[in-house]
Amino acid sequence: MEIRSVKVGILRTNAYVVASEGEAVIIDAGGDASRILELTEGFKVRAVIATHGHFDHVLAVPEIKKITGAVFLMHKDDIDVLDFSWSVYGTGQKPEPDRFIDEGDIIRFGKTELWVLHTPGHTPGSICLFNLDAKTIFTGDTLFHGAIGRTDFYGGDHTKILESIKKILSMFPDDMVVYPGHGKTTTIGTEKKNLSVLLT
Ligand SMILES: [Zn+2]
Ligand SMILES: [Zn+2]
Repeated sequence: MEIRSVKVGILRTNAYVVASEGEAVIIDAGGDASRILELTEGFKVRAVIATHGHFDHVLAVPEIKKITGAVFLMHKDDIDVLDFSWSVYGTGQKPEPDRFIDEGDIIRFGKTELWVLHTPGHTPGSICLFNLDAKTIFTGDTLFHGAIGRTDFYGGDHTKILESIKKILSMFPDDMVVYPGHGKTTTIGTEKKNLSVLLT
């Protein structure tokens, strides 16, 4: 599994390209479609996945879908969040999910796969994507380096995000690498220490 990333849009969202054996998926195509697509050169893009429906994670989805023919995947519980966020910040046609994904679903491409974990709180349909063998988890706006996601936006729920953070930090080994939606990469072990106050 090969991971590439680029910061896109006004909120400098981390867009990730995860590639394996000639195929790739894009996580959080939040803007600057051409800069994201540069990272997919040589790979067939199978899917564009949104960790949640906020505009800064989906703005480039329509353009990337049009160019690559990839399917757009997200959790059904974020449809309202996507509608609302797009109505405020989106331009042109809103991206329509081709398929909904939920906890336990597996997205296969090349010789690898990403598992879906439902982690509500930042939004109702926030998800993480992980691969245990690759010790890799993409956490969207749920878990950051030294911080957890905001819950003061439409659909946010502080109690739920705390439950989700506890689930993530207890489920995975300390050396699992965390790729968040904003800011720099961290590890599960580091965030267990950083967030210990929150979790007691
Ligand atoms: Zn967000
Ligand atoms: Zn964000």
